[in-house]
Amino acid sequence: MKQVTIMGVPFLHIDQQGFVSLLDNRIQNGETTFVITANPEVVMKANEDMNFMKYIHKATYVTADGIGIVKAAELLNKPLPGRVTGYDTMIGLLEIASEKQYSIFLLGAQNETLQKAKNNIKETYPGVKIVGSHDGFFDWGQNDIAKSISEVKPDITFVALGVPRQERWISENLSTFDKGMFIGVGGSFDVIAG
Ligand code: UDP
Repeated sequence: MKQVTIMGVPFLHIDQQGFVSLLDNRIQNGETTFVITANPEVVMKANEDMNFMKYIHKATYVTADGIGIVKAAELLNKPLPGRVTGYDTMIGLLEIASEKQYSIFLLGAQNETLQKAKNNIKETYPGVKIVGSHDGFFDWGQNDIAKSISEVKPDITFVALGVPRQERWISENLSTFDKGMFIGVGGSFDVIAG
């Protein structure tokens, strides 16, 4: 697929709707997918920290999260179709998941936020199967979270641990999973919790 590279970060040339459809296809095919939606802060961090750049290159797709990346691509004469944000991708996936009864796992945020987000998802997207969740404040070496995800095999795992923890967590645990879509969604649980 066509990409536009900005400061070493390969951005997928796709619009928001096309991206959600692409992810839906991969879910249907049972493919393992790692998504990073990268804003300018992510690009800067990747250029300062080699480990973070490694996570970026491990991702299946990196998308342009924010107008800053879209503008940079324009200035480089390599335009991108538009923003593809973590929050919008999460909402697009929840809509499809509700229609197709996909299963999801929510990892991240404070427990109270997480519970509120879960309730709001149940109400707004009744077809979604929430097969598990865990708050985002755990010891890094605690591997029972990845283990329980690998047991319930959710179609989609939303990881809201903030940058760069969420990318690091997905990157370090990806080989544990046989299938599923893993996406870092930053503060999205807080937004959904209201
Ligand atoms: N968060 C977490 N564990 C941590 C640090 C943060 O679960 O160790 C959660 C935090 O509660 C919030 C989300 O990560 O729900 C996003 O945090 P932040 O806004 O700092 O990240 P950004 O949106 O800048 O990626």
